[in-house]
This record gives sequence, structure tokens and C-alpha cells, in this order.
Amino acid sequence: MTIDFSVPREFIAWEGDGDPGSCPKCGAPLKQEHATYMLLTRRGGKLADSFMTGSDKGWFCTQCPALLLNPQEFSEPLSMGMPGWDVGNQFAIVGLVDLDAIPPEKDDIPIGAPGNPVPLVEFSNIRAPRPARGRSGSSRHPGSKKRRKKRRGRH
Ligand SMILES: [Zn+2]
Repeated sequence: MTIDFSVPREFIAWEGDGDPGSCPKCGAPLKQEHATYMLLTRRGGKLADSFMTGSDKGWFCTQCPALLLNPQEFSEPLSMGMPGWDVGNQFAIVGLVDLDAIPPEKDDIPIGAPGNPVPLVEFSNIRAPRPARGRSGSSRHPGSKKRRKKRRGRH
């Protein structure tokens, strides 16, 4: 069977090596499958870059949304450094990238570029840290008229 990457997965950090056996959630067989993951990196508590990386180390349950993956699989390439990336010393795997969701006519647009958003399917049990908004003072309404109070002169 093929794994449906459009289904939000439940991420289970699995620290072991080799075959984890059956699904810890439902006991069904697991299947190792190549997938594209979205990672967010942090440095000193601040969000650095997010990037996609492929790995065939994830174990997908064939019956339920469970996904077993050893986070160490990603920490090694990160620690070696990635030229051109602002990679922090912490990272979070936030979801899968459903590359099949990209329509063929957008094949020549880089993923994440305007017009071709990343088809991120976030894990159901991981709260992705959101990038801090640059501007916070958006509560002002620039179009609102200023009411001028006419001051009455004292009599
Ligand atoms: Zn399962």
C-alpha cells in the first residue's frame, strides 16, 4: 500500500535503531517510507530558518496516522552545517510536505516561492512555533477619521 502524505500524522519520537516492530498506537504493521519533512530551526529561542528535507527513516503506520521517527536522523546533518542556511542549534520537525499536492503546472516554480506555497501537512500533535510577526501595531485603523473636538472657548 502507499502512504497518504496528505493525512496529518501523529509524530512519535522513536529513539531506537532498526525496525521498531508494530505500531505503538494500534499494533498494526509499520512501513518505512521516504517522505519530505518540514523542519524549523531555532537559535537561542528565536526562529531561524525553516527548510524541507527528505528522509526514508520514517516508519508510517499502515492503519492509523502514527509516524515513528528518530529525531536524531536530522540532527546529524544539521550539526554539520548547511551552507547558505541560517540553521540554529535547535530544531523541530513540524510536519510532512505533501509534494503530490503541487499541481504539475507549478513544477517549475520553486516550492515556497510566491504562487507555490509549501504544501505542509502539520503533525496533529506538534504545535509549530509561528514566526514572530514583525509588526505588532496593526490594531490602528489608518482610514478612521479623526474626530476633531471643537473646543468651546470659555465665556
Ligand atoms: Zn497505528
